[in-house]
Amino acid sequence: MSSTAILEETLIKRSQQKKRTSPLNYKERVFVLTKTRLTYYEGRPEKKFKKGSVDLQRVRCVEIVKNGGMVIPCQNKYPFQVVYDSNTLYIFAPSNESRSVWVQNMKEEIRNNPLILAKFHPQFWQEGGWLCCGQAEKLAPGCEEYNLFGDISRKPLPALPSEESMTRRPAPPVPPTQETPQDAKPEEEVVIALYDFAGTESQDLALHSGEEYVIVEKCDVNWYRARNKYGEEGYIPSNYVTPKEPDNLEQFIWYCKNVNRNKAEEQLRNEDTEGGFMVRDSSTAGTYTVSVYTKSLGIGGVSIRHYRIKETQDPKLFYLSEKHQFSTIPEVIEYHKHNAAGLVARLRYPVNSQSKAAPSTAGFSYEKWEINPSELTFMKELGSGQFSVVRLGKWRGQHKVAIKAIREGAMLEEDFIEEAKVMMSLSHPRLVQLYGVCTQQSPTYLVTEFMELGCLLNYVRQRRHTFSPQDLLSICHDVSQGMRYLEEKRFIHRDLAARNCLVSDSHVVKVSDFGMTRYVLDDQYISSSGAKFPVKWSPPEVFNFCKYSSKSDIWSFGVLMWEVFTEGKMPFEHNPNHEVVKMVTQGTRLNRPKKAAPHIYSIMQLCWQERPEERPSFEQISVMITDELEADGHAS
Ligand code: ADP
Repeated sequence: MSSTAILEETLIKRSQQKKRTSPLNYKERVFVLTKTRLTYYEGRPEKKFKKGSVDLQRVRCVEIVKNGGMVIPCQNKYPFQVVYDSNTLYIFAPSNESRSVWVQNMKEEIRNNPLILAKFHPQFWQEGGWLCCGQAEKLAPGCEEYNLFGDISRKPLPALPSEESMTRRPAPPVPPTQETPQDAKPEEEVVIALYDFAGTESQDLALHSGEEYVIVEKCDVNWYRARNKYGEEGYIPSNYVTPKEPDNLEQFIWYCKNVNRNKAEEQLRNEDTEGGFMVRDSSTAGTYTVSVYTKSLGIGGVSIRHYRIKETQDPKLFYLSEKHQFSTIPEVIEYHKHNAAGLVARLRYPVNSQSKAAPSTAGFSYEKWEINPSELTFMKELGSGQFSVVRLGKWRGQHKVAIKAIREGAMLEEDFIEEAKVMMSLSHPRLVQLYGVCTQQSPTYLVTEFMELGCLLNYVRQRRHTFSPQDLLSICHDVSQGMRYLEEKRFIHRDLAARNCLVSDSHVVKVSDFGMTRYVLDDQYISSSGAKFPVKWSPPEVFNFCKYSSKSDIWSFGVLMWEVFTEGKMPFEHNPNHEVVKMVTQGTRLNRPKKAAPHIYSIMQLCWQERPEERPSFEQISVMITDELEADGHAS
């Protein structure tokens, strides 16, 4: 039923990424609204080509746009907006009636969405500013209360900003009649491929690492439509490319995003090359550290040094050695490739294990959730869990995947399949990626990223006594980063524990099974008095009232840290669940593991504050852990 069209009409869409007000940025599209998506196509209704779509679950506001006297540079003069995630889609209807029908129907479909905006922007984002309030930040909070159930077309426009604020605002848009044809050429966003992408469907465009591509359309956060130098167009995964901008470090082989001090040292040691180096993010956002490896310190004298790239203000210059300052970081690196100038060695050889392994994509192609089971081959069994038997397999004989066959009667499958689309759109290097589902047969399969080293709990148990405290902290750091992403997306895990994290062949830990408990049918697991309920990982508000939040995930994260630092012990191992409920209610907490220094244990204790609002966020936790990892201090 969900694919039946509620509305279908040719409307005009304003391009989402072009910066200028050019008629070329306004395109006719056939819009189709169903119960689950708003999709737009190029061409006539009978023969149409899909250009993009928005999942209604992610929509946060649908409302008319008041144009405040601005000239609209296309023939349809009745604009409305669809805000989803952090994007705004502007659509222009031919009449007030048409617009009203679209806005009211869409409002009806999104009324139960969890992330509806409290405030929105009643006017356009234009030329780097909001015309309604003058704020110059695209993600600036809305300036007018949003009423999902109201009809603002009857309300007067908000007062125009005063002259004073007008001067701070970007210039009003130039009416199209004043544009010369040269001016009308839209600015195009150029990106550079970080990895090769073969493409799996005919709709995809192959990427070659290091080559440039033009972004034609940002279809959603994970998939873009792009054009190569031969003019061929197709879908590409957004995490395989990076904007071609002079100050974007991601385009350089020596830049390692998401690598902490411990991992940097491990990679440099593995590479074991004189002058091996990488540039990575420092604990303070927006600052960078250079890690260098040298063997030239006498007999057996291997050393790794970390140097923070310092910055001067007015003029803004960067340096490692005060005497050699440059206006960009790449210039600093280039200089020190040839001159040690105070560093322990010159930067001879970039080390970047990430450049070898391409990340997972959010699904195998754009909007492809359903996987054809005949394209799967099955290999050995990997394990079995609450509702599935998991096997190693291959998709199209090539990509290793884990295939979870759902046990009959173990799961609320229909509800899950709807949610699977949301889960597939969650994509982060510290989350186990869901690639797709096979729902047209029984049993249903979930196809996910394969994690060679299995579940984290067994991983730490099997390698007991081999980890340094820094290694254990680095594991917690990986998990905190995955959880920070879920927190940002307002997605609650509900069952975070070492058994629900998996480890890749390069020893990266990723969070798995997020949100899955909502689909379990086993009472022993769902009810807080049931034998399988994860009481020992739950805060009081969960075992008493089933009140889940990112703050209840934080409590579980504290317990996971404890599991990691005890190298896989069972929390409260001598107490059954009902006793743990009593103990925790009375204020008892898990003891400090021997391998956790007091300041590490104090991070766990913060997670176990009785009142949820007193617990830190994952954003704060990951900063605390990064700081701890960097705490050995910087040589400079
Ligand atoms: P369930 O969701 O049914 O509870 P689990 O996710 O706990 O199942 O998986 C059961 C076991 O299968 C895990 O403990 C792990 O050993 C193995 N496993 C699950 N997913 C993967 C994967 N993506 N890669 C490798 N092994 C996996």
